[in-house]
Formats: sequence, C-alpha cells, structure tokens
Amino acid sequence: MDSPVTVGQFEARLEGIRKRIADACGRAGRSPGEVALLPVTKRVPPELVNVAAGCGLDAFGESRVQEALQKIPLCPGHVQWHMIGHLQSNKVRQAVELFSVVHSVDSLKLLKVMEDACGQSGRTMRVFLEINVSGEGSKYGLKQDEAPAVLAACEAFPRVEVAGLMTIPPVSGDPETARPHFRRLREIRDSLRGISGMSLSELSMGMSHDFEIAVEEGSTVVRIGSALFRD
Ligand SMILES: *Cc1c(COP(=O)(O)O)cnc(C)c1O
Repeated sequence: MDSPVTVGQFEARLEGIRKRIADACGRAGRSPGEVALLPVTKRVPPELVNVAAGCGLDAFGESRVQEALQKIPLCPGHVQWHMIGHLQSNKVRQAVELFSVVHSVDSLKLLKVMEDACGQSGRTMRVFLEINVSGEGSKYGLKQDEAPAVLAACEAFPRVEVAGLMTIPPVSGDPETARPHFRRLREIRDSLRGISGMSLSELSMGMSHDFEIAVEEGSTVVRIGSALFRD
C-alpha cells in the first residue's frame, strides 16, 4: 500500500501514462509533443529516480527543498529539477542552487528574492506563476487580479523568465470537477498575454488523478507522482 513501485512496474506505469497522455491529446486534436511529463519524486527513493532517468526521463519535480537537498546529490548529475511545492523566501537561496524551474511562484516578494539570489550565484530561473483560480482549493497562489502587476514587475528581473502559469484545483474525488479550473487557467493566460505582451506559452496543470482532463484543456506540463511511482 502506497509503497514505491518496482523497476519492472515502473516501466509499465510510464508506458501507460504516456499512452493516456497521447490519447487525451488525440481527443483534443493536440500533438503529444506539446505535453511534457514531469515525474514527481517526492517520497520516492533515489534508486527509483535513477531507474526513471535510465528510461530517458531527464527532469523531475520535488515539492520540498529539504528533501531535494538530500536526494539530488544521489541522482544522476545531468537531470534537471523543478520545484513544484510552496517556496518560502528563506529557502530561495538553496532553491536557486538546486532547481532550474520553479512552478509555484505566488508573490512579487518571492520573485524579487529569487532575482537577487540568481544574481549572486550567476544563475537564471524559469518560473510559472501559481494562480489560485477559484479562491478556494490551494491556500497558495496569486489571485487573477494580482497577476498583471506581478508580470509587469518582472521586467525589472532579468534573471527570472516567466514561462507560464500553474494551478492546483481543489481536491475532489471526481476528476471532472477540475475541468473548469483548468479551462479557467487557460483563459486567464490568454487574457494576461494580451495585457502583458508576454507569450506565457506554458500551462503547468494536471496530476495523477486528473492529468487527462488537464491535457484536454491545454496543459503543456503534467506533474505526475503517485500514478508513476506508488503502488
Ligand atoms: C505531489 C504533487 C504533484 C503530484 O501529485 P500526484 O497526485 O502524486 O500525481 C503535483 N503537483 C504538486 C504541486 C505536488 O505537490
């Protein structure tokens, strides 16, 4: 129960998820190449990350800086790490050393701290703005009406590149309840495009239980943990 999968199970899981992504793309008239699979390795031991990397996966998501600090040195050096969980300002300096993408930027303050930390370590960071679409669900995330000012401020942050938006819909047993949240995130992106002139081409949305719906609604990155790694 909820233990990590075996090596043999992992390969079958990966194949199954890729097929389901491709099928969802087919239903939506999209190409599977438009959707990146980000395997989420929180609570997954480094041995299994190494197996996944051996299958050609080269970017992984972690949700806590502390866990990532311990795990990343035990994993292949060529893979990229994405921070997907809530990031506190006092962890940004460490996060900048560990991660190349942050999916969970939810304040202007965080961006400013990130710009400074990137400047000091000579790095750049690709980020997603996390949007709290419904006002419920995740307690984190920017409200839609806060996003334009945050994007405008990014002009002053040359080391931070905003790739797009991310959302986490409210937890629900029925994946269909997530659909309006995913659709809304895409609409918010379209509107912010017009306001900011940025392309915001990426939409990070969809997890193990609802990724097919997210793909149907335009996701470009699905963040999948348990469906890949847990029994
Ligand atoms: C854990 C986590 C995921 C993956 O969740 P699963 O349901 O295990 O696929 C995706 N996004 C975030 C932000 C997470 O914390």
